[in-house]
Amino acid sequence: MLNAPALEPRRDQFGRAIEYLRISVTDRCNFRCVYCMPAEGLDWLPKRDILSYEEIVAIVAQLAPLGLSRLRITGGEPTIRPDLAQLIAQLKAIPGISDIALSTNGVKLPAMAAELAAAGLDRVNISADSLRPDRIAAIARRDLKFDPVAAITAARRAGLDPVKVNVVVMRGINDDEVGDLARLTLEHVVHVRFIELMPVGEMANLTWEHVVPSDEVLSRAAEAVGPLTGAEGPARGNGPAKYFRASGAAGTVGVITPMTHTYCGSCNRVRLTADGRLRTCLYGDHEVNLRDPLRSGAALAPLFETALANKPKEHQLLQMQVGGLRALSQVGG
Ligand code: SAM
Ligand code: SF4
Repeated sequence: MLNAPALEPRRDQFGRAIEYLRISVTDRCNFRCVYCMPAEGLDWLPKRDILSYEEIVAIVAQLAPLGLSRLRITGGEPTIRPDLAQLIAQLKAIPGISDIALSTNGVKLPAMAAELAAAGLDRVNISADSLRPDRIAAIARRDLKFDPVAAITAARRAGLDPVKVNVVVMRGINDDEVGDLARLTLEHVVHVRFIELMPVGEMANLTWEHVVPSDEVLSRAAEAVGPLTGAEGPARGNGPAKYFRASGAAGTVGVITPMTHTYCGSCNRVRLTADGRLRTCLYGDHEVNLRDPLRSGAALAPLFETALANKPKEHQLLQMQVGGLRALSQVGG
């Protein structure tokens, strides 16, 4: 379906154009990844606090005219919320929305990819920290028989493009698989992105010692796939990752470096939490309640403009100031 052209994005107080909204549709998850959530889960938000799909659509419809054109559906695990395809179809029909992506742990993707793509989903990021079934279950603390290659294949078959794979690298836990995961790019048209662990929130004793700097990751990847040269990232959805390609490879290897190189200067995004708070930075306390004003019929555009005027210059992650955040799943990662 043809959609109206995107409008000029609003700029924040530092001149950054904000055109990308990450929407968390649930704080719940069918995994308990060691770097993301406590084993027992979190105190889940009560249902009445969570935005309904109608409310999410109403918020996006009010913000799209301010130049938001790209959306990412995330969580928690978005695929466990019922009728996700209906939400995607409604969001895609909003004038100005040109691109919708999904972040998922991939468990339900083989069953859902075709339906989501038909509803208007453009692309997908699949989290896969290992290719070994026993290790996948140990990191996720759930054995749901997740098969990363099956998820990639289903996504590509459904026409989702690009397909990205996100790997959180942890020293002594899965860093010995960097080569195997990089090898996926030799045959598959995928972008395998290695993310530096952010040792924040309530995690299973993960510390700075588990962080593997991206330079080390790249040299390990090159040992497996041969020399890597700088490459263009995927045509759509280029974010903070830097991309490289092995000679003759179908896909690319990428790194995302929140710990060793910040990329706040080119930040183009804001986040909507499952309970309707607009967060202008992943970390810190910068958030504005959109849910209650929406429920009482107030206009959201002025609140959005004020939030952008207060968007911080950069996060304070390296100083470990995370603003009371317990898990990335609470803010959509
Ligand atoms: N459940 C979905 C998934 O796993 O892709 C979407 C939500 S998850 C919070 C979004 C992303 O955040 C995932 O790629 C996950 O690996 C990443 N993430 C979560 N905690 C992290 C941490 N402590 N350090 C680095 N990345 C993290
Ligand atoms: Fe769930 Fe994603 Fe967090 Fe893992 S990273 S616990 S899949 S929200």
